[in-house]
Amino acid sequence: MWGIEQTALGRIIVPPLLPDGFALFYTTADFDGRLNTDATATLMRIVRERFGIEAVLATCTQVHGRNVVRAHAENTWRECDSCDGLWSSEPSTALGIKVADCLPVTIADMAKGVIANVHSGWRGAVQKIAAEAIDAIGGATPTTQAWLGPSIRVCCFEVGEEVVDQFRESYAEGELFVDRGGVKPHIDLPRLTAALLIARGIAPQNIHDSGLCTRCDTSIFHSYRRDGGRGGRNLAIAAH
Ligand SMILES: [Zn+2]
Repeated sequence: MWGIEQTALGRIIVPPLLPDGFALFYTTADFDGRLNTDATATLMRIVRERFGIEAVLATCTQVHGRNVVRAHAENTWRECDSCDGLWSSEPSTALGIKVADCLPVTIADMAKGVIANVHSGWRGAVQKIAAEAIDAIGGATPTTQAWLGPSIRVCCFEVGEEVVDQFRESYAEGELFVDRGGVKPHIDLPRLTAALLIARGIAPQNIHDSGLCTRCDTSIFHSYRRDGGRGGRNLAIAAH
């Protein structure tokens, strides 16, 4: 079970057993899709006080694409243009990804000193952005780990056949991740993503899934499907 902790930002979710020198948490503070210097300072305060890591945040203007951009250690918070993933090999760097129902996928290989954080909704999954992130960090090794954060899950992710078709075009085995028990198909985004990560070399036991559904859990998470475009955003923050 991933723990819920009370902080200056309200409740955050922290995966258990993170590697030394690596920070990862999910916050549900209401950022309405934008950040500012005050909010980023608070986020980095949590990274410092909870995880003992001094870092500067990089985020991105997300466009549901497949680009994963390298974030360098900067002096102030920086938002990269038109990308949906960030990676870093420089210590003191934090990578922030905004999500509502989309899946935040975080990858770390502390033996190599690299981390990546990506926004993978259904469009990102069709474009295999999680595989792009593995390529960006130089491929997976036996020490590479991945975390699948809170997102919409198969219980709630109802789609049209035209979306299923796109998954089938991109994944030969795509139908395996479609639940046809209801009136309309439901896609299992986290399970499909885990299969992609395993196919690209991450050991199954190194993939950690929160199992948390943003739409079912009305107490903590923002959900685009539940709240519409006016709902807030959740943030996945990784740092080293
Ligand atoms: Zn659900």
